[in-house]
This record gives sequence, structure tokens and C-alpha cells, in this order.
Amino acid sequence: MIKAVVGANWGDEGKGKIVDVCAKDAHVVVRFQGGSNAGHTIINDYGKFALHQLPSGIFHEGITNVLANGVALNVDYLKKEIEEVKASGVNFNLIISDRAHVLMPYHILLDVYEEERLAERQFGSTKSGIAPLYSDKHAKTGIQVWELYSDMLKPKINDIIDKINIIFKNLYNKPELDKAEIYETLRRYGEYVEKNICDTSAFLRNAIKEEKNIFLEGQLGALRDIDHGIYPYVTSSSTLAGYAAVGAGIAPYSITEIIAVTKAYSSAVGEGPFVVKMSGEEANTLRMKGGDAGEFGATTGRPRDVGCFDAVATRYGAKLQGATQIALTAIDVLEYMDEIPVCTGYEIDGEVIEDFPVTDKLYKAKPVIKKLPGFRENIRGITEFNKLPKNAQNYVNFVEEAIGVPVSIVSTGPKREEIIMR
Ligand code: GDP
Repeated sequence: MIKAVVGANWGDEGKGKIVDVCAKDAHVVVRFQGGSNAGHTIINDYGKFALHQLPSGIFHEGITNVLANGVALNVDYLKKEIEEVKASGVNFNLIISDRAHVLMPYHILLDVYEEERLAERQFGSTKSGIAPLYSDKHAKTGIQVWELYSDMLKPKINDIIDKINIIFKNLYNKPELDKAEIYETLRRYGEYVEKNICDTSAFLRNAIKEEKNIFLEGQLGALRDIDHGIYPYVTSSSTLAGYAAVGAGIAPYSITEIIAVTKAYSSAVGEGPFVVKMSGEEANTLRMKGGDAGEFGATTGRPRDVGCFDAVATRYGAKLQGATQIALTAIDVLEYMDEIPVCTGYEIDGEVIEDFPVTDKLYKAKPVIKKLPGFRENIRGITEFNKLPKNAQNYVNFVEEAIGVPVSIVSTGPKREEIIMR
């Protein structure tokens, strides 16, 4: 069984929790794209963790955690995260693709300097160096893990630094990089990951042959996908389940289930259009009630924009993911509402549409709001669907119908056990 767990929205949907819950049946958990630019918050017996680089399978014994080819590998961050989770008593197996791209110290600097230069025209980068890394990857000036051990590394790095120093000096007016220092950093990186690296794609193909249970864990959500998201307010890799096969190096048809995760309301961190954005008191209340789920992004600590459930955006996201199931998270947060607003369409220049349009039209769109009856009860921790108040059940059914995909998992709180499997 090979399942992908991916985001249907802007990220922060609660994928980490869903993977952590489902991972008890997994033999392998794989991250196939992205890097330390997004975080999964997980609360379990070991404590509370915001994982950025490590897969969410690390908390279950006997699982092999994989950082696959499509990942952006920040070795400094990985080291810090490994030290943190190990200090909490967590032990795990980790393998890293020999073809993953290494995040270089200058990628972060390029990200920071470029956002500084753009000033108010910023893209809302997390300044983790992800866009420069993927730019280099596609320009074929990136460094794959195997290159850390190659004789070709030094001349390649020398060339790259010559070019970067011209940019640093002339475009950003910043100090130039020292080649020897970069080279020493890379030697350190190579030493640190050496025992973990292998051909992870071959490992996964073998695991498939042995009929192992594999979870492919997406980062961010469909609306931040480089090809289909709210460009240019997107991430620099593909966040879609379709890419999971590519990033992991397995056959596309081997993925049998795709669980798209969506929150019972909307939240987004970073720049870009957000049609259902609430403001003032209404937003503050939802943000506060959301607690961790609503307040701040796990990577940047930036306050999230919040709004009601957006059926137009979520249906688009779920379809792009090719979702076979939906996991609906944070429904407990809506407990305080007498009536729960949901967005069923976008009004643009007097016309109502139900399909998700391109970015400039999103800026013009006004949400068409429908109000559903609230359930006004604390449902935190309920584990059976028929124990939910009728109006909460109706809300789940509304979401299911609006997206057109069965809601098979309902999360009723941030903890591992606060979950309904339908
Ligand atoms: P991810 O990147 O998709 O894993 O999401 P994040 O970890 O960035 O954000 C999701 C937040 O929602 C985290 O703080 C989770 O602890 C929290 N969360 C997940 N599921 C639930 C839920 O069912 N109820 C509540 N109240 N919070 C949840």
C-alpha cells in the first residue's frame, strides 16, 4: 500500500499530524520535495515538535524515514533538528538520497538579499534559500549530495562563487564569499550525512516489491504548487501527489491512495491573494480559537491570515492532488460559532464562478458566503463520527459534497488520539 498525504490548500493544513497518526501502519515515510521552508507540527507522547526537514515518521519505531531526490537538503538544519528530537528520546532510521540537492549557505543569503532588494514587492519568502536552490537545480548549477564527495566539486564551486560574488558585489552591495570557507562547510556537510546516504529510489522500489506500506509526505499545499498554484506566490517545487512519484523515484501508478488534507476553515501564511480573508474582530477570534492551528506559521512564526472554509479553492486543490480521500482537520476550532460561514463561489465583476481562477482574478474575487448552523459544543477529542453533534456531522457532509471526495478522516484536536477514522 502506497499512500500520499498532501495539502489541498495553502499549507499548514495539519498534514504532519495526519502522517503521524497514519504512520503507525507504515514501514516507510518519505519526503519527496521542499526543504526546511515549511514545518509540520506534531504533538505526541514525546512532546510537541515542529519538524522542518525530517519526515513525520520518526516517532514510530521500525520506520525507515526517507529524504528523497526531490528534497532540498539543509544539512545545518537537519543536524539541529536531529539533535533536538534525539534529546527528547526519539530514535529513528533515516536515509537520504544521494541525488537530493544540497542547500548551500549562499542560497540563504541570496534569498535574504533578494527580499531586501524587492522591499514591498516581496513574495513572502521564508528566507530559507529554497527558491535559489531550485533555481540552481534547474539551471544545472546545483550541488547534488553525491557531488560532496566528487573530485569535480572544487572547480564547480569555484565557478559558482565567482559568479555569485559578482551578484553580491554589484547587485546587492554585500561582502563577497570566501571560497575556502564554503569548501570547508561542504566538507563538513559531506562528513555529517555520509552514513545516511544511498540510492533511496532503489530502496523504495525494493520496498514496493516487498509490499511494504509507504507514506509519501507532502509539504505546503496545492495552491503553493509551482505549476498550478497562485503564481508567483508559490513555492519553488511541486507540492502535488503527482510529483511524489517523481521526487521519490517510483512508478506513478504505484501510488494507490491520495489523502488530501484540508482544515475546516482556511488559513494562509505568506503573500498572495486570499479570497476568504477575514479581518478585525472576526479574524482575531478565529485566530485565537485556532490556537496553534490558527495563529502562527510553524516555520516563520508569522501570523496567519484566516477565513472561512473555501470550497472553490479546496475543490481545486483536492482535484489537482487527485485526492481519493479527504482528511478534515481542526473542526473543533469552529465550536464557538452560532453559524459557520463557508465560501461556495467567487464573484468577479458581477459574475459568480465556482472554478479557481488565475492570480489577478483572485485579487478581484469576493467570496459568496453561505451560513451553516453551528454545533456550539466542545468536540475536542471525539473519536467516533456518530458521537459528533448533528450539525458537526452535517458540516463534514457539506465539505464532502463541496469537494466531491469522501472525508475519511476527521481530526478533532491537535493530539494524536484526537481523530475520527470513518
Ligand atoms: P502541516 O504543515 O500541514 O503539518 O501543518 P502545521 O503543522 O503547520 O499546522 C497545523 C496546525 O494545526 C498545528 O499547530 C497542529 O498542531 C494543528 N492541528 C492539526 N490538527 C488539528 C485539529 O484537528 N484541531 C486543532 N485544534 N488543531 C490541529
